Amino acid sequence: MQCTSCKTGELIPSTIDKTLTCHTCNHCGGNWIKLEDYIEWHKTQPSRQAVVDEIGVEVETVESHQALLCPETGAIMTRFRISSDTEHRIDWCSQSAAIWLDRGEWELLKEKGVADKLDQIFSRQWQAKIMAETARNTREAQLIEKLGEENYSRLKLVRTWLHEQSDENKAIMVSFLVARDPLAAKSEK
Ligand SMILES: [Zn+2]
Repeated sequence: MQCTSCKTGELIPSTIDKTLTCHTCNHCGGNWIKLEDYIEWHKTQPSRQAVVDEIGVEVETVESHQALLCPETGAIMTRFRISSDTEHRIDWCSQSAAIWLDRGEWELLKEKGVADKLDQIFSRQWQAKIMAETARNTREAQLIEKLGEENYSRLKLVRTWLHEQSDENKAIMVSFLVARDPLAAKSEK
């Protein structure tokens, strides 16, 4: 098969980390991995989790300049984010049920702790989780921007401390914190 990434090399039978069957481009070093081979490899991994059954939900269309064509079917591959702490995306073809990894992307997946979760990355659940985490990170960044880093970390400490109290004491403590004069008689507040 011709490599659709560099359009120069050939995809030749190969392995990643000596055990994961794939095709590797002899020019750009990209890897073409069939999902079935990945799942077989996955079974041999020690910390194996259940494989999700909803695979290949298309969640995003890509701009044409980034689009990679599947070397097998010629279809435009879909790019999926791998985690909330990176914008990095990897390519998936639902028609051929295969994954494309540029040279170095396998190492990145290992670094992010998701190399054994490739089958989940292409699921709706995984992508929803990334979106939720990203939204949380954005809200936190906005708070830090507004309050300042020191205030924000103090606030988090106070919050943790408050939540360690009994519900009754927590209510008293919150009232104390927000009251203009917490020790004034009730009518003076
Ligand atoms: Zn190539």
